[in-house]
Amino acid sequence: MSRLLILHTGGTIGMQPSATGYVPADGFSDRLAHHLSASLGTQLGDHGTDALPDYHLIELEPLIDSADLAPADWNRIVAALAQHWQGYDGFIVLHGTDTLAYTASALSFMLGPLDKPVVLTGAQIPLGEPRSDAINNLTTALLMAADPAAPPEVCIAFHDRLLRGNRARKVRSQGFDAFDSPDAPWLGEAGIALSFMPGLALAPGTPEAASGGMDAAPAAFTPNVTPRHFAPGAVAMLPVHPGLSAALLDAVLGDPALKGLVLQTYGVGNPPSLDGALIDRLAQSSQAGIAILNVSQCPQGQVVQGAYASGAALNAAGVIPGADLTPEAALTKLQVLIADGLRGEALKSALATPLRGEMTVN
Ligand code: ASP
Repeated sequence: MSRLLILHTGGTIGMQPSATGYVPADGFSDRLAHHLSASLGTQLGDHGTDALPDYHLIELEPLIDSADLAPADWNRIVAALAQHWQGYDGFIVLHGTDTLAYTASALSFMLGPLDKPVVLTGAQIPLGEPRSDAINNLTTALLMAADPAAPPEVCIAFHDRLLRGNRARKVRSQGFDAFDSPDAPWLGEAGIALSFMPGLALAPGTPEAASGGMDAAPAAFTPNVTPRHFAPGAVAMLPVHPGLSAALLDAVLGDPALKGLVLQTYGVGNPPSLDGALIDRLAQSSQAGIAILNVSQCPQGQVVQGAYASGAALNAAGVIPGADLTPEAALTKLQVLIADGLRGEALKSALATPLRGEMTVN
């Protein structure tokens, strides 16, 4: 029988009202056991029933509203997963919905190939409140993570959908169907039965080859758990818009800490020219070694950098077309690769290559 670890990081799922609005609250483990028992109509034993996989819950301290999440928090999540990797068959990360897609993307790049599922979930209404989606999202995540057909990768389970983490976006601020992956098929679905799309899962990571002779036990697989230093200001994201000023562009590109920029352009990757100022500045920055990654502001579709003259100028300026990367995946990919020390051509080439199923390259 599968044994799962739930890592509670904060977010609406476990929040309680305060005088100033919802805030993270302690005691989630006991409240969860209480509500699971009530919803299943049975007494939970040591955090398990016949109906649900056995789980153990730990809390990340301090719990956070995910709007406050910083890249350093990804190291805290990775460290907690790494510490328990060998003891469990799968992992659930409870997370606020605001930055859940960023964290899912970041974890996919930080952890690399996996041999077990890491399933992120949360809720739009806190556990215990009328019409809360917490129990459905959490029990679906538990059952999906325990299923032998679960993809061994970072996923999001939300409102009966299983999505690739680095393809997902928060698409609704108020609907229960808050997450979708507009450019990639769902990895699975929870109807009356759970189903997983065949052939879509990433290839699992495999254990290191055993050394020490034929009789040596094979080493256990371990994900990449290197803590990264995410230098403040190293990566920025800038949506172009009518009225964008060269001064704003200069402020962003002129930051000496900047090593990478995600540029969110119109449609198939078209920027405004700002009378030539934008392209000039982007070309200068690119020549100075700043990686500039072009993604679309459209929720769906590819960047085709060069379909229009305005986009073709970006090719000449050294801007990297981001295909169908989500802004969340583009930002976190850049952050992780830069934290890993990639620069110049190596960085450009990694950005243009799918690393964890995050983009479609035609
Ligand atoms: N602000 C909350 C958070 O992201 C929203 C949520 O969880 O839905 O932590």
